[in-house]
Amino acid sequence: MTYQKVIAIANQKGGVGKTTTSINLASALALQRKRVLLIDFDPQGDSGKALGYDVDAIKKNIANMMLEVIVNDECVYDSILHHDEGFDFIPTNTRLAAIESTLNNLEDKETVLKDIIVPLKEDYDYILIDCSPSLGTLTLNAFASANSVIIPTQSEYLSSSGTSDLISSILKTKRDINPELSVEGILITMTDDRTNQSRSIQKQITEKYGQHFPVFQKSIPRRVAISEASSVGQSIFTYDAKNEGAVAYSALAREVERNAKKTLKRSADTRSQSR
Ligand code: ADP
Ligand code: MG
Repeated sequence: MTYQKVIAIANQKGGVGKTTTSINLASALALQRKRVLLIDFDPQGDSGKALGYDVDAIKKNIANMMLEVIVNDECVYDSILHHDEGFDFIPTNTRLAAIESTLNNLEDKETVLKDIIVPLKEDYDYILIDCSPSLGTLTLNAFASANSVIIPTQSEYLSSSGTSDLISSILKTKRDINPELSVEGILITMTDDRTNQSRSIQKQITEKYGQHFPVFQKSIPRRVAISEASSVGQSIFTYDAKNEGAVAYSALAREVERNAKKTLKRSADTRSQSR
């Protein structure tokens, strides 16, 4: 049996590592022979840029797909690219910002992305959504489509009230639109090991949120190679496979895999009990 899992990578704070995590997790899962689709769902188009695409020159993207659904009630899958690193990718650019305004006039404004994703689930083990730094309608579309959310966070934003806004927004979506939605985990990014800070942050986060939400065991260290890789359109695995960043993102992918297998086992157990 296989599983299909849709994971939104979200935090309304910019610069916390959403895009970096989206790309490197996609690549890590592809290296573990999973079928992966990454959707760039931030009008900035940073995932596409970090994968080496000229996103403004690509005419077919998630914005067109959304518009097709809104205007013609049709899903047209003509903007799926195949990236060299072994996963599929749907790009975006600033046109997606205009779609957000259009969505805001619709009654079903939160479920347009879901209409696009549902028929795709058969084709992939994982669909990852790189969200924009906001809790607006686009991000709500990602939450409405997803099984779970990965929350990348940096130590310095821990105490900000943003985290509780994010969590309330996830819980509200769960209550009103998507009862399946859960928090896959809080991912601590850009840790600085000179100060042995990583372990104490891990401890603080676990104390603050661990009771309610999982915190990934492995955090992502700050490594220049991780941002250099993005600037040349590669994942850390292609740029420098031995880098600690690559080791950390592989470990994250294995944790995500273990979670998916647990979910699969739970649903198989439930089915056999109900027989
Ligand atoms: P977001 O998508 O949340 O805005 P990004 O993934 O774009 O955040 O990361 C913000 C900046 O930090 C980028 O320049 C990126 O290259 C850099 N960055 C992200 N993670 C790391 C890391 N682990 N080590 C070094 N630089 C990082
Ligand atoms: Mg980003």
